[in-house]
Amino acid sequence: MSDLDLLQLCGVSKHFGSFTAVDEVSLTVRAGARHAIIGPNGAGKSTLFGLISGTLTTSTGTITLDGRDVTRLPVHRRVGLGTAATFQHSSLFMRETVLENVLLAALLRTGAGAGTGLGGWRKVSARAEALARARTLLERVGLPDRHDLAAAALSHGERRQLEVAVALATEPRLLLMDEPAAGMSPAETQRLTELIAALPDEVTVLLVEHDLDMVFELADTVTVMHLGRHLTTGTPDQVRASAEVQQAYLGTTTEVSS
Ligand code: ADP
Ligand code: MG
Repeated sequence: MSDLDLLQLCGVSKHFGSFTAVDEVSLTVRAGARHAIIGPNGAGKSTLFGLISGTLTTSTGTITLDGRDVTRLPVHRRVGLGTAATFQHSSLFMRETVLENVLLAALLRTGAGAGTGLGGWRKVSARAEALARARTLLERVGLPDRHDLAAAALSHGERRQLEVAVALATEPRLLLMDEPAAGMSPAETQRLTELIAALPDEVTVLLVEHDLDMVFELADTVTVMHLGRHLTTGTPDQVRASAEVQQAYLGTTTEVSS
């Protein structure tokens, strides 16, 4: 593994009973990459994300973040090491306000959520800093005038924008996004694409997305999964041209060839 690799999966599998959802996947994600994972429904993409974020336990294989074995670490320890995720199914606190959702995540980062109680929050300077950061993030994701609304009152697209702000509040080095554009209008998808494109290089992005226009616009590296397996990884052009990929998609979608 080179110094430039942020995340490395080595022979990673996930079994649900006798079913193998992720089958010996080996994969390297370069620091600063915009790396997309595509593949038909049921390919194991979301399961793989669960293994990387720690919401699912790995059956076999190892996951290394920055050279450190994180395979058995719980979610909050991985957040502490710089992993953040937005999920296919929203994980927001619906009754809390937009600002509170981002603040809670910012507090996780300052350590208040990791065993020090609300110590960080009681310090006026830490509170002011977290508030300022939350406001900046809401501005960046395009929700500057929604601070005091309950998350439940947001539109679908706005919720996804808020999820990105929540994820960024933990100052991640690795941002996992599972189908962030699902259910979005074309205008919302475009806005989200611009938001991801504008993220600083310090944030490495690993993205699962069905919208292949978005994938090919954003990604510098594309991995294709099929039936739990790692089929191929390459540049967007290589993947678009791959016969194997065409084969995997045959019967499910023809978008790859468009
Ligand atoms: P994708 O995100 O690529 O559509 P998933 O990772 O969600 O695929 O699912 C991969 C396969 O694993 C599917 O066949 C799915 O039914 C199965 N699967 C996912 N989660 C579970 C689970 N908790 N228990 C049993 N099977 C699961
Ligand atoms: Mg999925």
